[in-house]
Amino acid sequence: MDLSQKYQAVIGLEVHAQLSTNSKLFSGDSIAFGNAPNTQVSPIALAHPGSLPKLNQKAVEYAIKMGLACNCTIAEHSFFARKNYFYPDLPKGYQISQHTHPICIGGFITIKTNEGERAVQLNRIHLEEDAGKSIHDLDPDNTCIDLNRAGTPLIEIVTEPDLFSAEEAWQYVTEIRKLVRWIGICDGNMEEGSLRCDANISVRLRGAEQLGTKVEVKNLNSIRNVKKAIEFENNRIITELEKGNSIQQQTRSFNADNDTTFAIRDKEEANDYRYFPDPDLPAIHLTTEGIKLIKEQLPGLPYQLIQHYQASYQLSAYDASQLCEEKSIADFFEQAIQFTNHYKMVANWILGPIKQLMNESQKNILELGLTVQQLAELIELIEGGKINFSTAASKLLPAILHTTSAPLALAESLNLLQVSDSNELELWVNATIEAMPDKVKEYQKGKKGLIGLFVGEVKKRSKGKADPKIVTELLEQKLNA
Ligand code: ADP
Ligand code: MG
Repeated sequence: MDLSQKYQAVIGLEVHAQLSTNSKLFSGDSIAFGNAPNTQVSPIALAHPGSLPKLNQKAVEYAIKMGLACNCTIAEHSFFARKNYFYPDLPKGYQISQHTHPICIGGFITIKTNEGERAVQLNRIHLEEDAGKSIHDLDPDNTCIDLNRAGTPLIEIVTEPDLFSAEEAWQYVTEIRKLVRWIGICDGNMEEGSLRCDANISVRLRGAEQLGTKVEVKNLNSIRNVKKAIEFENNRIITELEKGNSIQQQTRSFNADNDTTFAIRDKEEANDYRYFPDPDLPAIHLTTEGIKLIKEQLPGLPYQLIQHYQASYQLSAYDASQLCEEKSIADFFEQAIQFTNHYKMVANWILGPIKQLMNESQKNILELGLTVQQLAELIELIEGGKINFSTAASKLLPAILHTTSAPLALAESLNLLQVSDSNELELWVNATIEAMPDKVKEYQKGKKGLIGLFVGEVKKRSKGKADPKIVTELLEQKLNA
């Protein structure tokens, strides 16, 4: 029997995103990545006696931006709680987080699935501080602690148990990464730990209403690992259930060397965090007016622009969504169409030759060294029959990068412009007709489809420079004479 038909995986994700503020959530320490260990730690970050935390307003603003982008309700009243636990990378003995009153409530994120788009329901987005980092591979005998990260502002985006496959989880995290980058609140670099994910997974009989017992896989640091961990857990749990075993509620860790997970603690060992409101921090009070001001600063969001590009510029849904994969690309598109009305061509160029150059050089669209004016002019040259597409894409485009040249002047100096002067074209046309007497006879007997062959031959002889429209006319005149 097909076990994937018998069982259904149910997944809830907790994604931590590091906010790209300058300083920590409650102190002025820098949050820059990669500096010498323990050089960015003030007494406030360690909660030394007499120190007082002070809330970073930028972090609050960023959390609200994400909440608005995810259709959450922004709480007018929220506050911080202390989550008490002992761990070497948390010398304070507690983490400041939000518990009963998070800043953003509910909401959803739309993902692409095989069956089309679907809204994944969120439970909340809350603000919290990060802990320090334990480093196990620096010293053979000791664990080293770097507290630079302690107090770094995070948001935690928590879904309802509303994802149903590893693939959907992949799409969801991809969408979050795109969104945080789009609105500029987090760099989304999973390798540097700016985005981390805990995956909660349970399995139930398909059609059953009640959720199965969940396991939680902690600290997944790539989208691939999120997918692999869920796939592994799904199979492991199904195997247990098939054996008639019951599932233990557990916290597990992922081993990226062999794509498996292992238990780190059982439910019986679960922490009691003894949450209580942080007495050193006032509650956050927001006004409708204040929230509105932040909303006005949000850029157009991908889903809005995808609709706009289809409605206003007649782009296909596919092209529109490709342009909206990255904000810098969508911005480039919008700027380029200030200089030409050939919207579809602009999209084709960005998603074709330009994307290819970006991939080859591992650069983003701004680093490529092409201005939107150059692109627009290049497109106008093609539309005006001055240069053909393939010459423009393969020769002119690479030559123009990092120059201030105008496309027309550069094409002229590189001798790339199409020849549309009939006298010059006639020489190639005549030579072609002379070289292919048999084909000419066939054509004249009625095989008119051969015209393409003749045009192709003229193109070859002209090294791509013959204007195909005029060549076709000339050929037809001569062959039908
Ligand atoms: P905990 O208190 O153990 O952290 P929560 O109820 O806060 O658990 O949920 C944490 C995450 O686990 C959420 O994303 C939630 O959707 C998810 N989750 C809860 N129960 C299940 C379940 N039975 N199966 C899958 N995911 C679950
Ligand atoms: Mg949890």
